[in-house]
Amino acid sequence: MRVMTSGHVALALGAFWMLATVGWGESDTAADGERRVASALPQVAAYRLRVRIEPPTAARPSGWIVGESRLCVRSARGQTMSAISMRLYHGLRVRDVRCDAQPLSFEQQVVPVQPWEAMKVNRIAVHMPAMSPGESRALVVRYEGVVNGYREFAPYIVDGVTSTDALLREDVCWYPRIGPATREGLLATGDERAHYRLYVDVPSSWETVAAGRLRKCETRGGRRLYEWATVYPSPRCDLVCGQFQRIPIAAAITLHCRPPSSAKTVAVAETARRAFALCTQWLGPCPFPDLAIVETPAGSGGQTAPGLILMPSDGLRPEGDTQQEMVADAIGWIGHELSHLWTVPSREEHVSRWLDEGISNYLGGRMLEECAGPRAREAYMDRQRQYFREGGHLAYQTPLAECGRVDEARDPVARGKGPWVLYVLEHMVGREQVDRMLRELRLRHHQSGATLHHFADIASEVSGRRLDKFFDAWFWDTASSDLLCARLTAAEMARRYTEP
Ligand SMILES: [Zn+2]
Repeated sequence: MRVMTSGHVALALGAFWMLATVGWGESDTAADGERRVASALPQVAAYRLRVRIEPPTAARPSGWIVGESRLCVRSARGQTMSAISMRLYHGLRVRDVRCDAQPLSFEQQVVPVQPWEAMKVNRIAVHMPAMSPGESRALVVRYEGVVNGYREFAPYIVDGVTSTDALLREDVCWYPRIGPATREGLLATGDERAHYRLYVDVPSSWETVAAGRLRKCETRGGRRLYEWATVYPSPRCDLVCGQFQRIPIAAAITLHCRPPSSAKTVAVAETARRAFALCTQWLGPCPFPDLAIVETPAGSGGQTAPGLILMPSDGLRPEGDTQQEMVADAIGWIGHELSHLWTVPSREEHVSRWLDEGISNYLGGRMLEECAGPRAREAYMDRQRQYFREGGHLAYQTPLAECGRVDEARDPVARGKGPWVLYVLEHMVGREQVDRMLRELRLRHHQSGATLHHFADIASEVSGRRLDKFFDAWFWDTASSDLLCARLTAAEMARRYTEP
């Protein structure tokens, strides 16, 4: 994800943005605290979400949604279950909950998400007929109300319904998610992959874009009805409604932008084509070739999930006085998000975000070199270094492997120091070997997920070198912080590990 706003909030919601990948399989690797929350929670194998979206009217000045969500719930391993806790946006009220057509009793209350006091959710406690371990039931939750963002908590969560469009993302909790109203509960949801069937009912002048295949689109009685089905399991369901103009990017990739498209949008589409081709060349065929890239409101942050890239207007109107500056800005947005299609999910004990943001920021520099020359890449890498330095002493003294524990350090370390890990490695072993490492990481771990140890092992294997000293400095301790702050070049840093 790329966010324009302060890093603080982006890192708070970090794991929300982890890219999902096909078939997150069962694994016997050690689980972390957040995953322990996840494994103790009932799992949802499939969602069937219906939502009717009503723009504001004189009588009801805020847009309104009416939802019906069917969750196929399986009780956690080894646990008998007779109650389920769910979260929903604080402006949405649950009307009823049913299981096998029988109404269930429930309580709902708007509460703060601990310890994120500024984020409030509607916490729903549902009393279930007892479910033995591994048993599955279908729960149907009907709800309605207002969705109006979480700006007070995270400025990029601008989701809601206006007179001309709608944005509903998982982040705003527009459909019920299972789990407690806590930070750990929210982050754990980022690990849960499921298939989604999505039915959307909007005014007939609106279009809807979501992840997956469009199975139906029909206009009836002044309304337009859509049905979407995911192709790949996803940790989230997001949708964007409004009016769009389509620009083809590659075989099964389309950019949906708000009309009228400008010369800038056309240039962004060209940058996207180039970035996609470069990633394919470096990392292998795209794992999620059916893809919609869709414009969202300015300030809403870029985001990638299987089948759908959300690109805020900022990313489609790149800034800069020269052509080169505009290309650089476009790569920072669309190039960055496209590269996330190759991201391997994290299995780290504390998710550092290096496997997604560190690697994607490195690839952004590589794209920049191809499109705007080596100077542009150097300037870009210096900006990453500066971002790390601005993280202050917390970022300086937190090893990359530990930064998932420290909210304030995670972004500057993963996104600022993170790309330098591969930049320095490239100066040690060459970029072809770095590409091979990234391809191997994906080949071996795209289903099971990876840790930093997996990457370090692959790097040693591919390069045929002992890289212990290098990874000690860059992953496991903070010797690399000194090198970055001393303003050494990547070549100078590399010599520390290559010269006897
Ligand atoms: Zn990102």
